[in-house]
Amino acid sequence: MTRQRHVGRTEWLVAGAGFSGATLAERLATQLGARVLVVDRRPHLAGNAFDEIDSTGVRVHRYGAHIFHTKSEQVWRYLSHFSEWYPYVHRVLASLDGQLVPVPCNLTTLAHLLGLAQAAELERLSTRYFPDQRKITVLSLVNHHHPLLRAAGREVYEKIFLQYTLKQWGYRPEELDRSVTARVPVLISRDDRYFSDPYQGIPKDGYTALVERLLDNPLISVELGCDYRSLGNHLRDLPTIYTGPIDEFFGYVYGHLPYRSLRFQNYSYGVNRLLPVAVVNHPNAPGYTRVIEHAHFLDQHVGATTVTYEFPEPYEPSANEPYYPVPKQENHHRYQMYANLASSLAGRVFFVGRLAEYRYYDMDQAVAHALAVFNHQITPQSTRRSVGQPARHERRLATLAT
Ligand code: FAD
Ligand code: UDP
Repeated sequence: MTRQRHVGRTEWLVAGAGFSGATLAERLATQLGARVLVVDRRPHLAGNAFDEIDSTGVRVHRYGAHIFHTKSEQVWRYLSHFSEWYPYVHRVLASLDGQLVPVPCNLTTLAHLLGLAQAAELERLSTRYFPDQRKITVLSLVNHHHPLLRAAGREVYEKIFLQYTLKQWGYRPEELDRSVTARVPVLISRDDRYFSDPYQGIPKDGYTALVERLLDNPLISVELGCDYRSLGNHLRDLPTIYTGPIDEFFGYVYGHLPYRSLRFQNYSYGVNRLLPVAVVNHPNAPGYTRVIEHAHFLDQHVGATTVTYEFPEPYEPSANEPYYPVPKQENHHRYQMYANLASSLAGRVFFVGRLAEYRYYDMDQAVAHALAVFNHQITPQSTRRSVGQPARHERRLATLAT
């Protein structure tokens, strides 16, 4: 979708048409009446949440399974203005020792890994050592002083987390921020849902349609296949929402921030279903981490199905996409140097989103943060103040380079 630029004068530039950029473009147009130009260097809307109907008739998430889930009523209500939801609840199985068991690891999984008696003992011990917690991180089990908890943690770590994490990130779990593996806790219950958030679902017409509706405003123009870096100064001098990689924005003056990328391999078959659930994890298979069967998301039965194998790989600028910031202390330090540089542009360029803030945001967190930026950092004066100012970041870069 490429629309003409406005006839009138553009007041705001938004680089990136993912959830972060689209949310802010919507707010700027509807709340401030600003004329906004949204550019994205990819040929489609919705960023990594992009989906489309493939040749078999199945709606496919081009960049990996995207399941919307949130605790935030505010975010749910906001997005519900732009989409109805299919009430999908995400369940994941892991292929372990030739069997499919629930992930996150719950009491059923523990019984498979440890045997029924030990799983029952673990349940008893966990109520003593982790009172009021039905969710325990695998690393807190591995490091526990009680030998049985530690042994159980070790088993879960070895069978479910170690190889998967090495493939996904190129690091062992303990080399990354603990928050990474804490996303998939050990559940001391029989809950087999991947997410326990009160609001979850899949947009009925897909994510791309949701983002299209966010941007469907006569004040908003969209140019796809257009890189921010190719724009002239008359546009880059505008007040800007930038949602691309922050290190790229500043010309890598402090070196590259590491990202992790993925390769997706798709296969289609002439049957309605191949897998019992939408995602099957393969912690110990060579190369790939998980297989996605897209038809589950909207419960499609079109006589065909498409599955995607996900192969993690290193990120190489201009060869593949920077899907994941790598949450590690040293990378946060480097990001902070870029964030300090960004603060010199405060009020003129707003760095928002998974790549610009180098944060492992889920979609709801990206939207929540974009809404907070709009509510707390952008004022009607932001539009007027900055129009016509020279691209100060380029002047600052020139200073850094000398
Ligand atoms: P993005 O979606 O990355 O959008 C940024 C956009 O900016 C991109 O379209 C990019 O092309 C564009 N851009 C970058 N640089 C430039 C430039 N120089 N000029 C122009 N355009 C530029 N979240 C969930 O909530 N649930 C899930 O199940 C889930 N699964 C995921 C699975 C995978 C494999 C991945 C990678 C992510 C997943 N996410 C999930 C996270 C979700 O994709 C992000 O939270 C969300 O996309 C963040 O939106 P964003 O706008 O910040 O970034
Ligand atoms: N993880 C794992 N084994 C699994 C599932 C997850 O080791 O079966 C770890 C892995 O490090 C992964 C992290 O937990 O990157 C977070 O998993 P999540 O499913 O949230 O990752 P995402 O969907 O964001 O890729």
